[in-house]
Amino acid sequence: IRKSGILEMVTVTETLDNIGGLEKIKPWLRQKSGILENWAQARAFGVESPKGVLIVGMPGCGKSLTAKATAAQFALPLLKMDMGSLMGKYVGESENNMRRALQVAEAVSPCVLWVDEVEKAFVGAGSGGSGGGSEVTTRLFGYFLTWMQEKTKQVFVVATANDISALPPELLRKGRFDEIFYVDFPNAVEREAIFRVHLEKRRKLHSGIDLGAMAQATEGYSGADIESVVKEAIELAFLDGCKPLDTALLRRVTLDIQPLSVVMKDRIT
Ligand code: ATP
Repeated sequence: IRKSGILEMVTVTETLDNIGGLEKIKPWLRQKSGILENWAQARAFGVESPKGVLIVGMPGCGKSLTAKATAAQFALPLLKMDMGSLMGKYVGESENNMRRALQVAEAVSPCVLWVDEVEKAFVGAGSGGSGGGSEVTTRLFGYFLTWMQEKTKQVFVVATANDISALPPELLRKGRFDEIFYVDFPNAVEREAIFRVHLEKRRKLHSGIDLGAMAQATEGYSGADIESVVKEAIELAFLDGCKPLDTALLRRVTLDIQPLSVVMKDRIT
């Protein structure tokens, strides 16, 4: 399972503090973490076992980052299940792969299981999915839902998806996941927070940098775009004789980096 790339143990360095914005998800995860930390008492008190969360939204806006930060917040190992590699060529292979992967996750439990690009496996499955519903994806989908519903081991699922329209409604129904969050391109306040995170992380934040101005200059930029701006500006400042970063340089780099939302818009139209 590991060799085939279906399941991977991910080393986590990011925490919830490394996420700018996503102000609904972060407190929710902190609350779940408080429950898992005191699970025995919580269960005795009548709290239900946390199942998992589905995070859907734009690329580069922090879904993977949140999956990793969840494991850090819960202080649990993170296993990443790759839906693309799970799909086998032979009859029964995909289900077999999924069954084995979930068995491994249960053996590793307590852990966080990050199911990346969950929509890939379910295109066509369920009543509302597009693509007509192949038998394999429908069976796989059923298997996953049943497992989610009935799992007794502490495997907290973080499923991430870019395309909500590819997800079968059954997956979105209340009760499958504890919660579903949508992530969009960051607004100005969130962009400011993301600049702060990336500048602080690289020890380049100082009072001379106008974060508000940078947030205004980056409308339509994703978190990943903002990270690119910071990285590029640091490289240029280094090549320019290790100059301290300033707003003018960050602005200049911003103009050179085409934000993801613009690239995506071009692709759609
Ligand atoms: P994809 O669907 O393309 O995998 P994603 O939503 O999972 O996208 P991430 O992989 O989490 O996006 O983001 C890429 C990188 O961009 C992150 O590692 C992080 O450095 C930066 N980033 C994205 N969003 C944020 C954010 N909200 N705060 C801080 N950094 C962010």
